[in-house]
Amino acid sequence: MTDSMTEARAHDLDRSDPGWRELFLVPPADGGDHTESAYLAGNSLGLQPRATRGQLCEDLDDWARFGVEGHHDAKRPWYPYHELLTEPAARLVGALPAETVVMNSLTVNLHLLMVSFYRPRGNRVRILIEDSAFPSDSYAVRSQARFHGLDPDDTVVRLRSEREVLDHLRTDGDTVALVLLGGVNYLTGELMDIPAVTAAARAAGSVVGWDLAHAAGNVPLRLHEWGADFAAWCSYKYLNAGPGALAGVFVHERHLDDPSLPRFEGWWSTDAATRFEMSPVSRPPASADAWQVSNPPIFAMGPVRTSLELFDRIGMPALRERSLRLTAYLEGLLDEVLPGRPVELLTPRDPARRGAQLSLRVEPPHDAGGLARRLRHEYGVITDAREPDVLRLAPAPLYSTHHDCWRAADALAREVS
Ligand SMILES: *Cc1c(COP(=O)(O)O)cnc(C)c1O
Repeated sequence: MTDSMTEARAHDLDRSDPGWRELFLVPPADGGDHTESAYLAGNSLGLQPRATRGQLCEDLDDWARFGVEGHHDAKRPWYPYHELLTEPAARLVGALPAETVVMNSLTVNLHLLMVSFYRPRGNRVRILIEDSAFPSDSYAVRSQARFHGLDPDDTVVRLRSEREVLDHLRTDGDTVALVLLGGVNYLTGELMDIPAVTAAARAAGSVVGWDLAHAAGNVPLRLHEWGADFAAWCSYKYLNAGPGALAGVFVHERHLDDPSLPRFEGWWSTDAATRFEMSPVSRPPASADAWQVSNPPIFAMGPVRTSLELFDRIGMPALRERSLRLTAYLEGLLDEVLPGRPVELLTPRDPARRGAQLSLRVEPPHDAGGLARRLRHEYGVITDAREPDVLRLAPAPLYSTHHDCWRAADALAREVS
């Protein structure tokens, strides 16, 4: 390695650019020379903020102390609890509070949103997704097609790049009912040009929704201004709210007061002020809250609230700046290590076209799963493998360090030849 790539240099960079690691619990290393793991899997499951346990215990204590009266008397009353999450979630994705709600999990939310926004008519029935869409999204859109009596093989069009999406919209736009893409692709780490694709889809007369699972908390977003019809994201990846954490939803303001929109409703879809009038007919508020169905799980909302407080405190601009530095540093290390080895970088080189994730394609005889296991057990480096051949490394700017990146590159240099 060149001088700029030594372990000492990694430590120097961590002294001048330390991030916020002390706010998190970092898993112990399973192997190697260090006590903490080099955790580069925050794109799959973010780490636990130290503040989460105490705040969750407060909510549990209020249940013990108040029973049902906790709906109104708890320190953070349960009845309006979800509203505590709305403004910070809206700030995170560049939405208005009225356009935002935290509820359910991601794929469930995609379905609830497609009930409203995927309305095939006449020739306009197709759903465009990326060919490398996360399988859950693919299953969701295929099952939506079937729900409408359509053949998913004819209805769902899988395209290989942003260019193909834009071309398809230009040539066959009048057949497209919905464009549903990942803002940051889960496999390659590519960040789409969300405003450009959104504008093209709308110009073609299509509805456009974004799955922001890998974008929320990773890259700056301005959903309201970009004009997407809807979006959804999970909170357990870059948002560190814990496994299966509650997810977020965005519905653009222009749809909030549209009585013609179909929607699946329950008692939490009706206006909170009149909910206990027990009327047989709902009166949905002119906000994303109208997409809620059930009363929400308080103990699942606590960790989302704790996490969003961190994002509010630090702010996406500062996080993105550190992310750009850290990812470029990891890229530089990999550029030292990879030439001559059977590994190639899949992620775009342009920092504006990616978030915190660098994906590597490994060639036989190596396989991604085996390599990830060896990195973990022999070096304490936690990465994420997508079988058969993709290894994903995500230096999450909140808690990953330059030294974590150095350990990953050093371990790859030793393991892959
Ligand atoms: C992580 C992820 C999911 C996971 O879906 P859940 O409903 O949270 O289980 C779905 N889609 C994408 C693009 C993802 O990255």
